[in-house]
Amino acid sequence: MIVISDILELKKQIGEWKREGLSIGFCPTMGSLHAGHMDLVETSKNETDKTIMSIFVNPTQFNDPKDFAQYPIKTDDDLRLCEEKGVDLVFLPEVKTMYPETKTPISLSIPELQKHLCGRTRPGHFEGVLQIVSKLFHLTEPNKTFFGLKDYQQYRVISAMVENLNFPLEVIGVPTRREKDGLAMSSRNVRLSEKDRETASLIPRMFALAKKTILGGEKDIRLWKEILRDFLLTGSSLRIDYLEVVDPIHLQPKERLEGEVLLAIAVFVGEVRLIDNQIITIPS
Ligand code: AMP
Repeated sequence: MIVISDILELKKQIGEWKREGLSIGFCPTMGSLHAGHMDLVETSKNETDKTIMSIFVNPTQFNDPKDFAQYPIKTDDDLRLCEEKGVDLVFLPEVKTMYPETKTPISLSIPELQKHLCGRTRPGHFEGVLQIVSKLFHLTEPNKTFFGLKDYQQYRVISAMVENLNFPLEVIGVPTRREKDGLAMSSRNVRLSEKDRETASLIPRMFALAKKTILGGEKDIRLWKEILRDFLLTGSSLRIDYLEVVDPIHLQPKERLEGEVLLAIAVFVGEVRLIDNQIITIPS
């Protein structure tokens, strides 16, 4: 496995692969890798000749400096896992490599897709994501790139940027990998105390209840949200950042329960912010 921190070295290696006619798959991450990240790698290995992973905790996408400071870093374990899974190249840049002080910052956004969900409650987050991901796309020149559907809004925002700016690559969404109790795997889960981890299991249970009530015939979106909020909040210490029902393409709030809806939530368990979502088909 090749590990590179330098941009010129990276471009040299990519150039060699391109000259050999090999296709490139790219999985951007912030490290502290788990089985969900490895699903991206596996999908990439099935679909392309060479798989690149970037590991970079991107400062520009954190709107909360405390969250950035506490983001877990486990580079040695990450590299071991990547090697085991057959990643071909890990790009591990330093902050000053990605953001030289001589450069004037740029801001990219897809306003319509960022109006709700994390775009509303984490101002500046997607600007930071689009900035780093577009830089990484130019540096790694992938044919295909792989993003987890756990971060569904991120997947949509990146897909829209690729379409809008004619990046010559395909964005592929990879299903969410979950723990036994259904909690979505996340690098942030290691920050949960034992008690908070128990509280976090309310999230998958809420999604189960959401589906059950829909199958039971619930048609009133306001009532549905109230039932789900009550379930999460009654007797628990969890705080809701948002609980929204939007359409899965434009991410605008749904007025009625019909067709396919995206039920998306962000909660704070202790100090840890967790997100999850599911697309639910409403029976007609
Ligand atoms: P992160 O390191 O959290 O920025 O995530 C890097 C990539 O892995 C993103 O495309 C995430 O959506 C994806 N990812 C994170 N958690 C999961 C999961 N539980 N299942 C599938 N993909 C995930």
